Amino acid sequence: MSRVSANGNTKASGEAVGAPSSGAHRLYSAQDMARISSSACAGCGACCRGMGDTIVLDPYDVWQLTQGLGKPFGALLGSDLNLHVEDGVILPHLVMREETQSCTFLGADGRCTVHAYRPGICRLFPLGRQFDDKKTSYFIVPNGCVKGGLSKVRIDRWLGIEDLPRYEAYKAEWRSLLRTLQARIAAEPSEEVQRNVNLYFLRTFYMNPYEGTGANSFYEELATRMRAFTAAAL
Ligand code: SF4
Ligand code: SF4
Repeated sequence: MSRVSANGNTKASGEAVGAPSSGAHRLYSAQDMARISSSACAGCGACCRGMGDTIVLDPYDVWQLTQGLGKPFGALLGSDLNLHVEDGVILPHLVMREETQSCTFLGADGRCTVHAYRPGICRLFPLGRQFDDKKTSYFIVPNGCVKGGLSKVRIDRWLGIEDLPRYEAYKAEWRSLLRTLQARIAAEPSEEVQRNVNLYFLRTFYMNPYEGTGANSFYEELATRMRAFTAAAL
């Protein structure tokens, strides 16, 4: 589901599911060229401000951020990350500074200070992602970069994600687990059980640090956690 920030910004372009409505937007594969490269980016920072709670993090994002910053999830919570509830599920998101409504990772020069390990939504910008069964497609978000004059680049190069097919498969699996969890919580009458399932979810996928350093070990560890969580809570 697409989530748009309070000021209408569309960096948090979100993810759509299923076949596109006819003519809604052109879909691209990761190997396609698309006019998305902001080589003229002057670091205005417009795409990093006023995003509210819409830059939602998945376990891969948190693994990358905590490794890159050398800080555990708990140390970032309350300062750079916060929690919100989405369809009954507690999820972390990037925090916007109160005074400027800019992301706490936005530097004074208007550049991202965590560029090498920025979250997936930030990597995507100005793209959105669509899942259709096992296929991942991309589309250009309307009113993305305010600068305009974007040039063409291959989408997989733009994303710069190691082993993109594996990452796309992980995103589809993660999305599926989230949908199942949301349905599980919606059907659960006890608020206490809902809360406990949410706490277990947060601990399992976000708070407990991932031991490995490479992407392969992250995916293996995550798959183990997903199996255990599914067996215990879904
Ligand atoms: S809105 Fe465009 S020009 Fe401004 S910081 Fe973002 S990518 Fe760069
Ligand atoms: S993490 Fe970086 S790219 Fe993403 S919103 Fe914050 S400053 Fe912008």
